[in-house]
Amino acid sequence: MALIVQKFGGTSVGSTDKIKNVAKRVLRHQQQGHQVVVVLSAMSGQTDTLLGMAAEMQHLPDLRESDMLLATGEQVTIALFAMAIKGAGSNAVSLLGDQVRIITDAMHTKARIKEIETDVIRKHLDAGRVVVVAGFQGVTSEGEITTLGRGGSDTTAVALAAALKADACEIYTDVEGVYTADPNICAQARKIDMITYDEMLELASLGAKVLEIRSVGLAKRYKVPLHVRSTFSENEGTWVVEEERIMESMLVSGITYSRKEARITITGVPDQPGVASKIFQPISDAGILVDMIIQNTREGQLTDITFTVLRTDYARTMEMLQKTIANIGAESVKGDESIAKLSIVGVGMRNHSGIASTMFQVMANEGINIMMISTSEIKVSCIIAEKYTELAVRSLHSAFALDKNNLPEEE
Ligand code: ADP
Ligand code: ASP
Ligand code: MG
Repeated sequence: MALIVQKFGGTSVGSTDKIKNVAKRVLRHQQQGHQVVVVLSAMSGQTDTLLGMAAEMQHLPDLRESDMLLATGEQVTIALFAMAIKGAGSNAVSLLGDQVRIITDAMHTKARIKEIETDVIRKHLDAGRVVVVAGFQGVTSEGEITTLGRGGSDTTAVALAAALKADACEIYTDVEGVYTADPNICAQARKIDMITYDEMLELASLGAKVLEIRSVGLAKRYKVPLHVRSTFSENEGTWVVEEERIMESMLVSGITYSRKEARITITGVPDQPGVASKIFQPISDAGILVDMIIQNTREGQLTDITFTVLRTDYARTMEMLQKTIANIGAESVKGDESIAKLSIVGVGMRNHSGIASTMFQVMANEGINIMMISTSEIKVSCIIAEKYTELAVRSLHSAFALDKNNLPEEE
């Protein structure tokens, strides 16, 4: 008998009919003799709808109250799902984050899981129930409701799989697995059979929302093999595994993009020790993540500092920076929300040169201006104007022959 954690995303539970179908699928697994813990998202679009309503109430919605609101989306699907299982003659129980006791820190709207208690879940599993857990939410040790950040149900699923030492963690979604590029904007994209945790971490952090980044980090840390697959077919999906399990590495495994960032430039910054800290300390104290940072100094002169933050943090950051520039004596702060970050990822890059320059050449051929560049061992990212996103993804996909096998040639 195996213990399986199965997570179904918003589109998989987007209507009552879909919920009933997913319940049937889960019951088939249970009838094969497995214990099943199901993690559900809210119905597709629901979290966005709730966020929209919040924005009607308050310019920058209160973070604690946002969590109170957002956590309701998942409560709806888990209750309906448990009813669907019971309606099919079997037994189930739905549990909210605080009923499981998924304990998080108090960083509202992007809380981190600190601990998961497993007693309640085990008791229900042993009684033969399908346990249906609300994704994306937790509770602080003081009893405050929290949420884990967008896409956070993936994190709930992996964290539960790790805590329960589950035999498998399956992430069911609306595509057949992890693709070489977002299949919704690149028709040539191919399903990847196996990918390393590190590549998936990069893809996820750079915009491939098929898996939420923290879920991949947890899976890597606790060695939880992830199987990303389709709710709507029986086909094998993509396995996210340790590097040792993959025989041959692609030069470039995937191309990804993110429209979630905004670019901010502070001009006329005095070139003195301590200035960068005065700019970035208040931002990090507010729990805002800064991604790329560029600063070019010419000795003794004023400089510009450009960096990116999530668009959801843009207004708050701009507001904070008004104070900062007065404080440090900088000239002005400017922002641009219509940018995209385009990235290529592959462990094959470790041993092969020329990948970044090919990327830049493709951009040049398409007449796309590169505003910022950043690289790491297995990725290259460029900031470009948002309107060129699709064009850039498709051009890079064909330039790196991702629709075919692009294994590096033997040297
Ligand atoms: P769920 O609601 O099941 O969590 P998401 O919408 O969060 O699903 O993630 C699935 C979506 O991720 C797909 O519909 C696809 O558009 C998008 N996506 C982006 N990049 C990729 C990729 N490289 N491979 C697969 N899907 C991707
Ligand atoms: N419902 C949440 C969201 O839309 C969490 C999730 O779907 O994973 O972000
Ligand atoms: Mg998701």
